[in-house]
Amino acid sequence: MSDRWIEETFHADWRVALRASKVLHEVKTDHQHLVIFENPYWGTVLMLDGVVQLTTKDEHVYHEMMAHVPLMALDRPKKVLIVGGGDGGVLREVLKHGCVEKAVLVEIDREVIDTSLQYFPQIPQKALESDRSEVVIADGLKYVAETGELFDCIIVDSSEPIGPSAVLHSKEFFASCRRALTPGGALVTQNGLAQLFPDHLAGTTRIFASLFKRASPYICHQPCYFGGLFALNLATDDKSILGIGPKKLAKRARKRGVADLKYWTPAVHLGAFALPAELERIVDEAVAAGKSGDDRGYELPPTPAPDAPPTKKAAAKKPSVKEPSEKKTVTRKPVTKKPAEKPTPTAKTGP
Ligand code: SAM
Repeated sequence: MSDRWIEETFHADWRVALRASKVLHEVKTDHQHLVIFENPYWGTVLMLDGVVQLTTKDEHVYHEMMAHVPLMALDRPKKVLIVGGGDGGVLREVLKHGCVEKAVLVEIDREVIDTSLQYFPQIPQKALESDRSEVVIADGLKYVAETGELFDCIIVDSSEPIGPSAVLHSKEFFASCRRALTPGGALVTQNGLAQLFPDHLAGTTRIFASLFKRASPYICHQPCYFGGLFALNLATDDKSILGIGPKKLAKRARKRGVADLKYWTPAVHLGAFALPAELERIVDEAVAAGKSGDDRGYELPPTPAPDAPPTKKAAAKKPSVKEPSEKKTVTRKPVTKKPAEKPTPTAKTGP
């Protein structure tokens, strides 16, 4: 067993280290530092820029709460946009809704998609190859600003507000998302560890309250996001979608064929919006500020870079996939086969 310990370097004053029993893939992509490794407890772990993105042990928590809370709240969502989420976990959950006719996933880093398919195919399962999904390799900020399509639900499965993901926490980006939503549609974004980064929760809530009639953060318990309650934030102009009762939520799940979930239930859905008093106060203040035009977002203070630079070997192993140009709509064809490497399982992505 390798005795390398890989540290999460996200917090300025404390770190969590995970034993890497086997490093499966490590590379500095054109966008971020990516490492995938095995851990005896958490299973397969994906880390980007020194931050745990997911583990095969508990990825269902985050992915179910990002997908099912907005989709169950909406009457019959047909078109969904996922920004980020290259691991395919949110897309997997979105496609469980039989009413969803099309789901577009916009991921900036092809390496995340290819390595996810290679090292933890049990997360995307067949979602990236589904006839109902379209995968675009592009910067989400640009895609949403330029798209002529409208979506009933937009799910921002971004990383923390660092590196390529910083723009996905900005007013500019969320304003573009609002323009790409159908009337009464729902926008959901990851909003960080609420008790550790209350300013992040406040910043996104101010922006949402300045853009939409309702800004409603909700919480879940994501064990591998070390540091307490994990916040998500939902924005909409249709207040009624936040008043759907447990019976109607259960009926919608049955009708759409959404079953065998491991975290989301109608009660968990409703309970997730009940915030602890300290967070409720932060949200109320942020909503009031946003409604009075204070739309300041949140900028994360610079974080130390991950310790372990990519090893020569891993760098050499990097498949020679040229970074796609800005934005390429996907033509339904398999992922470019990496020369000289075992063909990755097919998935649809940009040429
Ligand atoms: N659940 C994780 C979290 O909360 O930390 C996020 C998981 S997901 C892997 C984040 C994805 O967002 C990554 O694959 C990353 O490459 C992608 N991403 C970052 N910046 C992006 C951008 N500007 N446009 C599109 N995708 C982006």
